[in-house]
Amino acid sequence: MSQESTSILIIYTGGTIGMVNDPKTGSLAPFDFGHMRKQVPEVNNFAFNIETITFKKVVDSSNITPEIWIHLAELIEKNYHKYDGFVILHGTDTMAYSAAALSFLLENLGKPVVFTGSQLPIGTLRTDGKENFISAIEIAAATKDGQPIVPEVSVFFENMLYRGNRTTKHNADYFDAFRSYNYPELAKAGIDISYNYSAICYPVIKKDIKVYNKLDPNVAILQIFPGIQPSVVDAIVNIKGLKGLVLETYGSGNAPTLDWFTEKIKYAIDRGVVVLSVTQCNAGSVNMGKYATSLGLLNAGVINGKNITTETAVAKLMFLLGQKYNKEQIKEYLLKSLRGEINA
Ligand code: ASP
Repeated sequence: MSQESTSILIIYTGGTIGMVNDPKTGSLAPFDFGHMRKQVPEVNNFAFNIETITFKKVVDSSNITPEIWIHLAELIEKNYHKYDGFVILHGTDTMAYSAAALSFLLENLGKPVVFTGSQLPIGTLRTDGKENFISAIEIAAATKDGQPIVPEVSVFFENMLYRGNRTTKHNADYFDAFRSYNYPELAKAGIDISYNYSAICYPVIKKDIKVYNKLDPNVAILQIFPGIQPSVVDAIVNIKGLKGLVLETYGSGNAPTLDWFTEKIKYAIDRGVVVLSVTQCNAGSVNMGKYATSLGLLNAGVINGKNITTETAVAKLMFLLGQKYNKEQIKEYLLKSLRGEINA
């Protein structure tokens, strides 16, 4: 495919990258995307066609919702055959959740969907936004032998391209805001962009994209800590309508062996809540049954989240619960990798 015939769609959802300082309040507030093109005239130098869609109401990513994820998936579906790749400009705070959610909503994805954003607004002198933006476009357009090099939902930030559903925002202050602790980078940008082909997921059999439009947000996160009180666990397991619980356990899936704790978790499972154990550690995996302190949870029916991130566990539960699969199917899908989100 020649560069001239390539078309990239940029979807601007909001986030620091497009924010400006409101002189009245002194806070950063989202601004119009027209500003972005003015601030990055370099975008006009790409040999290919770039078009943009700006959300009617741009949002700080703290206000991202599952409805917005579905809207994004539907935008990609509507434009899938018109464009060769997609760049989603998004706030960094919840980018890892959004990238994970999109990875599940877009099954059989055969084109790049690259999330990026920045820590400093694109109009500021030392912004990291320009470089992130330009490299993300380049990656979204990159092909080899006529095929997209990264046909996945990914996150590009500060020279690194990661699988979207493996990312975590790990730093609020520095430009290298993201990490993928349990999976290697998909590419590194230096003088050239060098792709880590063996880490990129390529479809074995090409199938048509399937876009899902249902998510069930009735999930919660319970992070255990020394001294956790029964009332805290009670409050969570008794949430009305709760269907999924991400249980953030210690190390390789360990938790207090207090009878009341295990009983309350079992009570949640008995009332139909799917409980997934993820580790509080940045890297590594849950390995239920390795220590006696995880056996009780295993016997109660807690599912082993392996090395899934909390962000992706939330998105995966919302996705699976949204498809109305039965309990057995949900368990089966949680234990296996659907979009490269765990080492199964
Ligand atoms: N609060 C901003 C957001 O997530 C932070 C950022 O974009 O970096 O939208």
